[in-house]
Amino acid sequence: MSQTRRKKVAVGLTEYATGKYGWLKNRKPRPPLNQLILSIFYHVTSVRRATRALNELKRAFVDWNEVRVSHPAEVAGVLSSAPWAMEGAERLVWLLRELYEVHNRTNLDFLAELTPAQARTCLKRLSTVPRDVADEVLLLSLDVPVLPCSAAAARMSHRLGLLPDDRATVKNQRALAKAFEDDAYAPVHLFFCDYADKLCLPEEPLCERCPLGRMCVTRR
Ligand code: SF4
Repeated sequence: MSQTRRKKVAVGLTEYATGKYGWLKNRKPRPPLNQLILSIFYHVTSVRRATRALNELKRAFVDWNEVRVSHPAEVAGVLSSAPWAMEGAERLVWLLRELYEVHNRTNLDFLAELTPAQARTCLKRLSTVPRDVADEVLLLSLDVPVLPCSAAAARMSHRLGLLPDDRATVKNQRALAKAFEDDAYAPVHLFFCDYADKLCLPEEPLCERCPLGRMCVTRR
């Protein structure tokens, strides 16, 4: 795909993402653990439902330690009766228990004192936190200009013609970041959370529901 065509796709994606989520420039960053919990829910449901789930949990439990010692079914009951709630609750309780085991605490506020590389390494010590989720926390909580690249984001970007292949490598992450302006990383990332995982499926992508269908080389 030509450079001009790639630019056009990146601009179209940015326009759609900023239209839906805003530029998110003056938002108050969430504490790192709250963002990490939100990231868990991003992977099982939409950005909108994930945000609502985080707020429900904050209302229903005294703190994250109370969630840690609760049964996942009790946590899921606060969220929804849909299947994603149980999956999200199980992942959340597992994460909090592991965090307590590894760092002996149920917050990640100390990450703000570290360099971005140190913070990423610290997050990746948790077995449930791959690089793209660690980068999500860096971007959305610690305001580090990094664009996460999950397997789903790499797949969708490749199909859109933005990446030469569909692997979530560091090289592809850098290439993807270069395609967008730094200040669009947050909405672009939320776009991938909502559409790459849920529509641009590995086997049978749901192209008829994709907002970028008209500019997708794979669909054509
Ligand atoms: S049109 Fe289909 S293949 Fe292309 S990005 Fe959208 S879901 Fe993926």
